[in-house]
Amino acid sequence: MLGMRKTCLALVSALLCAGVGLSALALPAADDAVPKEDREHLEQAVKDFIEEIYEQKDEEERHFQKARSSMSFEPIDGGRYQVVAYKDIVEEGGRTMRTERYRLTLEKESDEQWKISEQVLEDTVTGMSRYMPGDEKFFTFDGFHFDREGLKVDSGPGSLIVFFRNGKRSSMLFTGRDLSYSYQPPPETDLDARYRAVKNLKSRDFDFVPELASLRCSEDLCGELLETLFEGLTETTREKIDAKSGKEYDRRIREMERSRRENYLSGFRFDDLPGNEYYTLLVKKKGKDHFLGLRYDNWAPKEVSFVVSGYWPALFTYYSEQTRSSGKSVYELERRPDEDGRFFDVVSVKGSVDLQTKTPETMDADIHYQLRAREDFDRLGFGIVVMERSDDEKKSVTRPRLTVSYIKDGEGKELSWVQLGPNYGMVIFPRTIKKGEIIPLEMKFSNGKAVYDFSWSYKYMARGGWLPFVRFADMIDEFELTISVPEQYTTLGIGKKMAERVADGRRITEWKAFHPVTFPTIIFGKYTKAESTVQARKLDGTPIPVTIYVDENALTEGSAASGQWGIRPKQLQPLVDQAAQAINLYERLYGVDYPYSKLDLVNDPIGGALYGQAPSSIIYLGSLVFRGAATLESFGGGRGVSKFLKSVVAHETGHQWWGASTSNFNSGNYWFVESLAEYSSAIYTEQAYGRKAYLQQVKAWHDDLVQADTMCSVQDGYTAWGGPLGGYGNQRNIYSRGPYAFHILRETFGDKKFFNYLYNLAQKLAQKQIVTEDMKMISEVVFGADMSWFWDQWIRGVGLPEYAFKLSTRQTEDGKYLVEGTVRQRVVIGPKNEVLEGRYFRGAIPVTVFYTDGTREKKPVLVEGELTEVRFKVDKKPQKVVFNGEGEILAERMIPSSSF
Ligand SMILES: [Zn+2]
Repeated sequence: MLGMRKTCLALVSALLCAGVGLSALALPAADDAVPKEDREHLEQAVKDFIEEIYEQKDEEERHFQKARSSMSFEPIDGGRYQVVAYKDIVEEGGRTMRTERYRLTLEKESDEQWKISEQVLEDTVTGMSRYMPGDEKFFTFDGFHFDREGLKVDSGPGSLIVFFRNGKRSSMLFTGRDLSYSYQPPPETDLDARYRAVKNLKSRDFDFVPELASLRCSEDLCGELLETLFEGLTETTREKIDAKSGKEYDRRIREMERSRRENYLSGFRFDDLPGNEYYTLLVKKKGKDHFLGLRYDNWAPKEVSFVVSGYWPALFTYYSEQTRSSGKSVYELERRPDEDGRFFDVVSVKGSVDLQTKTPETMDADIHYQLRAREDFDRLGFGIVVMERSDDEKKSVTRPRLTVSYIKDGEGKELSWVQLGPNYGMVIFPRTIKKGEIIPLEMKFSNGKAVYDFSWSYKYMARGGWLPFVRFADMIDEFELTISVPEQYTTLGIGKKMAERVADGRRITEWKAFHPVTFPTIIFGKYTKAESTVQARKLDGTPIPVTIYVDENALTEGSAASGQWGIRPKQLQPLVDQAAQAINLYERLYGVDYPYSKLDLVNDPIGGALYGQAPSSIIYLGSLVFRGAATLESFGGGRGVSKFLKSVVAHETGHQWWGASTSNFNSGNYWFVESLAEYSSAIYTEQAYGRKAYLQQVKAWHDDLVQADTMCSVQDGYTAWGGPLGGYGNQRNIYSRGPYAFHILRETFGDKKFFNYLYNLAQKLAQKQIVTEDMKMISEVVFGADMSWFWDQWIRGVGLPEYAFKLSTRQTEDGKYLVEGTVRQRVVIGPKNEVLEGRYFRGAIPVTVFYTDGTREKKPVLVEGELTEVRFKVDKKPQKVVFNGEGEILAERMIPSSSF
């Protein structure tokens, strides 16, 4: 899942968004059934039970079990109550954990005293285990040979340590005489030239002497790899293994022992899911903390990653040999889900969210979900993002942030669940949920670090991952939230505000979206607001209220660090009007309605001040966006800043179509969300400021991209290494090369066909989660041609063309004028402009002929291959001829010469 990405100055950019609302599921909490005077005593009885269980110690004086309860009491006959409680018990010498779910019955003994009269074991969860120091086995071997997916690793005689998780081989560490490796991307991956270019930048990261190798693997695969890769295995003892692996072994053991001492109940994970096979084989550079190797996971969208330290998240990712030879279509391959999207879709989210409850940072929530199973499953992981803002907080990761009261099924029965870390856990179902089933789930939880109480008027919520089970790009069909905040604040929610009331010092608002929601967010504070003076409307004329909010502290003069940006009220109007104008433009351009009932824009005074982000029906704008270009000069901004300011609101508004109306199916296909929001903003710029401003934006994409020296494709922008400038390279691909590709389409096919294409894209893909191939298929229908070349070179491929051109004109015997010459091409990549041998781009690139009478005409030349001859006649005497004069095609360099 994509995290948020804030960008500052010059890196003008933005992220996407999506939206939310809530419905009237004011859950009759079971707790209402408990008289106030009894509640405290009931809870005390359960707390005593929990305490008593924790206090028990094993023979080594360690707390080996803990208990927890939902404290959700249900009345039964005889004035008694029942409540669910769990015991987590460490067993088998610390190797495994078992969780038991009990139903406790409580009886009144006296006015002040309740007792647990009965405990019934209802469920037992097993399958959690961890490493225990001391379980390792030691071997000598005669040889090791690995040859898969492009990587070869070989070794002569050496020694091996095998680590076990509850009796199952789980990872290995080894070295041997002449340990060596080689890597060559498989030919069908087309990565060979790119790998050479990367190696030429810093060869010592790729060609080194290895001293150790490690292999981590799934339970089933580990046994197979151990048997097939090693020759002549003989068991031995710790003393007999070589010093290098011995030293690394000791380090790992110390680490494990330390973490067991700190919390004896920690470090458990579930056994691998059936069918999931993975391994990571790494070789470590001699004397350095540097490694290289392969990661394979049959459930990853692209199963193979070639990983090298310093080249994150992977240098390359590609399909496995098995998948490459399976004959599957590009469409099928692109629709392989992300690993965290494998098991379910979120169909519905409804419930209540209470902010600033126990503390100014707390969120209490009770959410009803409907999840549609994409595969069979019997357990699901869940987690939330927590706001750890200081280094101290980051260190204290063992403190729980996510407190789950309960997770219930559709009948209101509590499901077993296990907390596996401070902010994540696993829920276990009593039966296998079958593919296609829609299951209801209710989760009541509290996040102790959900709200950043930034200033007296600005309260910030983490935008991604604040709702368990909800991922960034999920397209949630039904979204309804009831939000409560302290009564002095205004809440901005997703969709339409259905109701608002104040009760007991809390302001309660109810929100409902009438269109699927992606990337939901909520925010609250004390704001000054302005409505747009431009009326935004849906296609049928329905008005769309567009409002901008700035928190009151940001309107004061002071330090930006405390959120006092000195924004003046008059600075709100132009921004909110831009948003309304952009809505009206996109309604016409795409013929698809703005998805929600309103659009709210709100400032973000924290940190990176020049950015935008667009969840459904809400747009965040960094506070500096309000200050105007002149003020920004003093912050070191320049031309890039002013371009950013002209387009940021239009870009973010564009996300209500690209991101909210149409979303990406998986992270390998996120690029278009940004590229099309950015291209939409260029159309807005053209409408508002003219053709010249549009071409300036195109030129800026070119300049930014060329500077970024990217080395991965647009499509891989969130999954592979972007180049020596890291994330900047990826970002420029998505925000510059992607939109430039749409500019090239427009120049190639003309406005009529191009805008028809955009219209078709928006119409046909509305309310869908799509992949790149969907866009390609529509392009082939609209343009009536095989468009593989376009998508392969600009979106799925790497490198930029350079053109050397020499053109001249002369009069011919028939009185006309001949334009002739040559265009040479090569494709380059990276900061050293390494030539990708044998690779050429295709394009209809115009030669613009300027005449002495002041007129001009464009003559497209089909350029493909290394050398293109140009030869055409015109009627009038040319004054000059220009090749690719307006950047009709994206090129690294244009060289006015007959050769490079
Ligand atoms: Zn964006």
